Amino acid sequence: MNIGFIGLGNMGGPMALNLIKAGYELTVYDVRREAAAEHVSLGATWTASAADCAAQSDTLITMLPGPRQVEAVMRQVTPPEGTTWIDMSTSAPDTARRFDVPKLDAPVSGMAKGAIAGTLQIFVGGPAELYQRHRPVLEAMGDPERIFHVGPEGAGYTVKLMINLLWFTHLVATTEVLTMGMKAGVDLETLRTSLAASPACSNFLANDVLSVLRHGDYDDSFAMALACKDLGLAVDVGRDVGVPVELSALVEQIYRRGRARYGDLAGEMSPMRLYEDLAGVELRTGGTR
Ligand code: NAD
Repeated sequence: MNIGFIGLGNMGGPMALNLIKAGYELTVYDVRREAAAEHVSLGATWTASAADCAAQSDTLITMLPGPRQVEAVMRQVTPPEGTTWIDMSTSAPDTARRFDVPKLDAPVSGMAKGAIAGTLQIFVGGPAELYQRHRPVLEAMGDPERIFHVGPEGAGYTVKLMINLLWFTHLVATTEVLTMGMKAGVDLETLRTSLAASPACSNFLANDVLSVLRHGDYDDSFAMALACKDLGLAVDVGRDVGVPVELSALVEQIYRRGRARYGDLAGEMSPMRLYEDLAGVELRTGGTR
């Protein structure tokens, strides 16, 4: 099977490397040629355009920032008859629907470290037969126990957007609570462990927040520009299906404020800095995990 892989960034770069390590023949393309250096050194074929990349593949994978780039790339390509297009970007069903080719939407969770380790969670929308046929390809990039066929075309995108929306909402709510409790005089680590031992616990509170609290790391492997893109797409889902999403829209605005203040490339946990700056505190507990 020859796999064409377009988009070799923080996620796509290591995902494509894992496909090469699993023995697949890869043809790769990115607007930044240097992103393909390691792949080429391991035997992948570089092509000078998205069109050439697609022309040589029987499975075409895209891992691009969002709908705008997915649409731009797919407008340039004419995949050979029988090629399956697997879009692993966090994108929108409407964009993919414009292209009449056999396809799966298969966005991922698990951060850049999951892409490197090959332990991503993958949420797949599309025909069951296509999903079964391409499961081995997905297993080369993800954790076999956490690769899910979640429904027909578009369902993968929807699940992924709902995951990110809930995670960003947890981040904002948790940060607000921690900042308030700390300013009210409770030791930050005591507050966090008390909340984590209570019915208010979440995975964010128990695990992910420690990145900032213990290491001052706002996770720049996932950029604020992408986080804001995801929140915009998630709020669009609410609008499209006629569900009022007041809270989600507010979280989106808080993220947009964070992006304006700290920049497109700032880490996805940067909205925590907004609260730190406004309250004049540093959310740090020190220590190691
Ligand atoms: P990234 O910006 O690091 O990588 C995107 C890559 O696409 C870059 O190498 C860029 O040069 C390339 N690109 C952009 N436009 C192109 C075009 N027209 N033609 C060819 N290449 C083009 O982004 P990322 O962090 O790898 O994220 C990719 C997708 O995965 C996004 O949809 C993101 O929301 C999603 N995602 C990211 C993470 C994460 O932790 N970074 C986690 C889960 C999902």
